[in-house]
Amino acid sequence: MKRNILIGGAWPYANNSLHIGHLAALLPGDVLARYFRGKHDEVIYVSGTDSHGTPITERAKVEKVNPEDIAKKYHEEFTKNFKDLDFSYDLYTATFKSYHKEKVKGYFLKMYENGYIFEKEEDQDYCDTCKTFLSDREIVGICPHCGGEARGDQCENCLTSLEPKDIKDKHCKTCGGKTTLKKNKHLYFKLPEFKDKLTDFVLENGKNWRKNAINESKKYLSQNMPNRAATRQLTWGVEVPIKGYEDKRIYVWIEAVLGYLTACEKVCEERHIDFKEFVKKSDHFKSYYVHGKDNIPFHTIIFPALLMAIDEDMGLPNEIISSEYMNMNDEKMSKSKGNMITIQDLLNEFDKDSIRYYMIANGPEKKDANFNHDDFINIHNKFLVGVLGNFVNRNLSFVYKKLDGVIKKGKIDDDIKAKTISLYQNVSSLIEKGELKLALEKCMEYCILGNKYYDDNTPWIKVKEDINAFNDVTYTCTYMIANIANLFYPFIPSTCLKIKEMLSLNEYQFEEEVIDSDIKINNVDILFQKLEK
Ligand SMILES: [Zn+2]
Ligand SMILES: [Zn+2]
Repeated sequence: MKRNILIGGAWPYANNSLHIGHLAALLPGDVLARYFRGKHDEVIYVSGTDSHGTPITERAKVEKVNPEDIAKKYHEEFTKNFKDLDFSYDLYTATFKSYHKEKVKGYFLKMYENGYIFEKEEDQDYCDTCKTFLSDREIVGICPHCGGEARGDQCENCLTSLEPKDIKDKHCKTCGGKTTLKKNKHLYFKLPEFKDKLTDFVLENGKNWRKNAINESKKYLSQNMPNRAATRQLTWGVEVPIKGYEDKRIYVWIEAVLGYLTACEKVCEERHIDFKEFVKKSDHFKSYYVHGKDNIPFHTIIFPALLMAIDEDMGLPNEIISSEYMNMNDEKMSKSKGNMITIQDLLNEFDKDSIRYYMIANGPEKKDANFNHDDFINIHNKFLVGVLGNFVNRNLSFVYKKLDGVIKKGKIDDDIKAKTISLYQNVSSLIEKGELKLALEKCMEYCILGNKYYDDNTPWIKVKEDINAFNDVTYTCTYMIANIANLFYPFIPSTCLKIKEMLSLNEYQFEEEVIDSDIKINNVDILFQKLEK
């Protein structure tokens, strides 16, 4: 039966260029999407640019532009980065799009009507000069712990997380005026009401998750879980669909994460699929959420709680594909160290499939990984040039040069055929569990096997002594090449398409391919060029 597969890639924040840490965390989503499409499932793979919130409004103030200009600029950049790396999103959108906003308002109202969002009046810092309530980050003052300069949410000096009420000598960040307290009303989400259900959910589903996901989720559940503010004093964001809240916006933590639903619904509309049916809890619905480990509780606690509050029938996250961190030359990546490599930097220097291969083969799937320039070149030369590229090229070039590019139909080696069929099963089960690194390793072992088969069977001698035996070996190697183009397709799609073009192979699907005739080679292209250090 065709499965409904929803894959949600984390929504990057429109505040800075994407770097290799983002790429390492997000690339698994594309591998999954391409794999499931090859299994003929109904795949919806979505993401978008997270464009609201105070960091963007603050930056807009400093740069004297509209927050929207900043969001749009990064949205364009991100969209191009993903396209250049062959990410196959069914929809890559942004939270400033009106479709998202309208749908989010609908979900917000639903949660309000279901009784999970309530109003509370509290004292909040107010600036008399600016005539506005101040959000955490618009307040500056003195840290109660170290006496250093603090913002409303954090001390800049000792980095302790703070709340505005902790801070001494509070001033408005914009005008420097003293703040006063004034009654203000906000809406809150009743997160604690879901604590038991969330605990059951994490214990039951978490069995399949990565260790970091289960640990972070349990940690979150063991801590004090207060009601969460659902609105903010801001004018940049999604409007609150409730009267009396015109000067406030829906808090980003609610609104951005609901993007998975709004984007999925949009794709369903385009495909004329019933959205509610698609995302309904069932044996043939499966969802994957793909992100870095700093984002885990949003996908294992917050998002499921919102889903429960909106509609109990909706399927909760099944698989949590939460990466560890990518370090840079054995150091943590950070802006202050200036050691961040952006996706654009990588693309300027390397081929997109080399980047994709490296990021899965050497990515932070289960433990922190390390990016190193020399390593990158070594891995590219060793595996892509030396193993995969070599196997394809030595076979096809030989036939192209010596035999007019015609591979005669022969008999496929029994052992190779059996290994090929079982490899598909093995790699399928690894990919579906999110074990992409091991899946890719198995595929590369298949190329190593191909080279060994070629060396052991010496087609360059057989061609002179026994043409039938030569045809069998070459045909078997071509059969392997055809299947390499399917097996590797989720990882390095553009290379696989090149192979398919050289041999006029069938369209990609994730299953064994047998060509039942002579094969004419159209052209021989070098798949990967050796890189110099
Ligand atoms: Zn002020
Ligand atoms: Zn401090």
